[in-house]
Amino acid sequence: MSDTPAYDALVAHHQTQHDLEHLQALASWDRLTGMPAQAAAARARAQGALAVLLRQQQENANLKDYLLAANSEPLNDDARLNVALMQRALTLKEAVPPSLAGRFEVTRGAAAQAWGLAREDNNWTTFANAWRPLVSVVREQAERIGQHLGLSAMDALYEGVEPGLRQARLEPLIEQVTLWLPPLVARARQLQGAEPLVPTGPFATTEQQALCQDLLSRLGFDFGRGRLDACQHPFTGGVPEDVRLATRFVTTSLLPALMGVLHEAGHAGYQQHLPRHWLGQPLAGPHSASLHEAQALTFERQLASMPAFWKAMSPMLCERFGNQPAFDPINLWQLTHRVRPGLVRVQADALSYPLHIVLRHRIECALVNGDIEVEDVPVLWAEQVKQLLGLNPSETFIEGPLQDMHWVQGMFGYFPSYLLGAMAAAQLMQAVKRDTPDLEELVRSGNWHCVADWLRPRVWEQGARRDLDEALSYATGESLSDDALRRQLSAWGSFNG
Ligand SMILES: [Zn+2]
Repeated sequence: MSDTPAYDALVAHHQTQHDLEHLQALASWDRLTGMPAQAAAARARAQGALAVLLRQQQENANLKDYLLAANSEPLNDDARLNVALMQRALTLKEAVPPSLAGRFEVTRGAAAQAWGLAREDNNWTTFANAWRPLVSVVREQAERIGQHLGLSAMDALYEGVEPGLRQARLEPLIEQVTLWLPPLVARARQLQGAEPLVPTGPFATTEQQALCQDLLSRLGFDFGRGRLDACQHPFTGGVPEDVRLATRFVTTSLLPALMGVLHEAGHAGYQQHLPRHWLGQPLAGPHSASLHEAQALTFERQLASMPAFWKAMSPMLCERFGNQPAFDPINLWQLTHRVRPGLVRVQADALSYPLHIVLRHRIECALVNGDIEVEDVPVLWAEQVKQLLGLNPSETFIEGPLQDMHWVQGMFGYFPSYLLGAMAAAQLMQAVKRDTPDLEELVRSGNWHCVADWLRPRVWEQGARRDLDEALSYATGESLSDDALRRQLSAWGSFNG
């Protein structure tokens, strides 16, 4: 008989959860990529039933007793860490009573519905009335988790997204960015020349798909354990054993599919190479939202910001779509690196993007802490658009506080992950360059898997072992800082000539 029966029961429980989630993830992928429209109602019902099963399996598991018993069993260091991660998840869950968790689901359902209508009518008041109860629930959740863990409200929310992140660590990083970034945006805009040429289509979807498959293989994606499909909004889904990646193909432009695949390839690579031996267990989980995003940005914003990358891309595009002046490597770089501050976050260039995050960060902190109420958001938003982006705010809320889904879904404290991910990606790439003397040559010849080869043992196969600072120290030798991102963005104008 095993001398770790409680731990064995915990492992079996998490494996079953993982297996059920596997099927749930495949059903979601299918819903977004290939499901016939008339199957929607039956699919929603089937996925709902699976969600209930998952919840019941979780609630019936006696996790608390097993965790208590496992603590006195003879476990090795990895197993102990696995138990600690299980305990952390349970503590976060227990801090929120079922009635409050239920109110969260109900209020965010109502907010999502009002959001859709308010976007059509450009009506803030309608939305605010439906959103207010959700904000109140989020405040209560943050307070309860905070009391449980001895944390402030915002730190309590970060704990669910970015374990270990504290506002005291985050705030100086954000303040630094707001100091050095706006002048760099202005300088890059001055330095950039005439509008680059836009490639002219049509670009057959089959050719684009073949190109994206080629890119993914070069980036280290394993097609034996994953696939690429078409969808409306690029995403990475599935499970590490079977990663489902999707991008958007439009025949009039190459860039949506191309840039979508570059981004998702980072998420997918991380997902495919989480520690194999621990799959199904919390230790094999990705550590945090920012570390995940950092992998995507290492490909999309770091590798693809090397002129050598576009030197490799240029002949690949000519071969598939015919030669045209827009496929000149310098033109391709300029086209994908145009700095044009705008009002919409998801359309922002790499330089102005962090400022969109700072804006949201300031507002969500004030809202969660009760310094402002929902009716104050549009005015504060407009002020921040002027102050941070130097733009006149839009007349329409769809280009203002109604543009993102995060707050509507009750996701507060998530936005900083995008900025931390950008910093981490720059830092990772700086280390890739340091450790790979022939990187330029490798990238120019299309051997991009060298980046995946560097990330795999240092980040991907480490799973949830370390928090963000420790993970970066392990991979690069230094904890997180904004230095590498500042250095990279400072050089933005130099390839514009
Ligand atoms: Zn992403």
